[in-house]
Amino acid sequence: MPASPESVAAFRDAYRREHVPERYSGWLHFAFTFGFGGAVMLGCLLQLRSVSAWEWLAVPLSAVYVNLAEYWGHRGPMHHLTRGLRLVYERHTRQHHRFFTDATMVIDAVRDFRAVLFPPVLMVFFLAAFALPAGLLLATLASPNVAWLFGATSLGYFLNYEFLHLAYHLPPRHPLARLPLVARLKRLHTIHHDPARMAARNFNITYPLGDWLFGTLERR
Ligand SMILES: [Zn+2]
Ligand SMILES: [Zn+2]
Repeated sequence: MPASPESVAAFRDAYRREHVPERYSGWLHFAFTFGFGGAVMLGCLLQLRSVSAWEWLAVPLSAVYVNLAEYWGHRGPMHHLTRGLRLVYERHTRQHHRFFTDATMVIDAVRDFRAVLFPPVLMVFFLAAFALPAGLLLATLASPNVAWLFGATSLGYFLNYEFLHLAYHLPPRHPLARLPLVARLKRLHTIHHDPARMAARNFNITYPLGDWLFGTLERR
């Protein structure tokens, strides 16, 4: 059943009371995400040494890999309770999707960044648990340049994800929300926020490659 704006408003009030600490700052969260993420990405790029033509292939291949990881991560643990990844499910299905439905997509204040951006602890966890082992494997199997390009591309992709997702939940008149690409992709994400469709349609938050490949793309 679609959540009414009143029940969303009640959920938002409860969420702010229970999950947003007094000292929380939306802008600080934003600055950490893009400052720390951007610094790690720059750090990876600074390690590159005379990259050969075949090594540059790591950029498009990593982008496709991360797109599919985004798709399966969202279709899997973000919408299904999974051992060891409970926090991801809680934050996404039980909080993000109740804070925003297809009828109530817009934040009320900068403090609501809390309900959109990944928490810093999960960002560091994903870096340590997934990006670091994959990078070490690539450095061994391919070359250090390939590993650093994978790191930089993954980070860049993640920041692009955070930017787009935040833009989808800004007021429609905001200049970022009015960018043509953002407006087009936001329509797909709005369909995903329909409670009846959230576990079945439009799992890519960035570009709908995984949804197109696996038959879950809905343009309405
Ligand atoms: Zn969303
Ligand atoms: Zn979702």
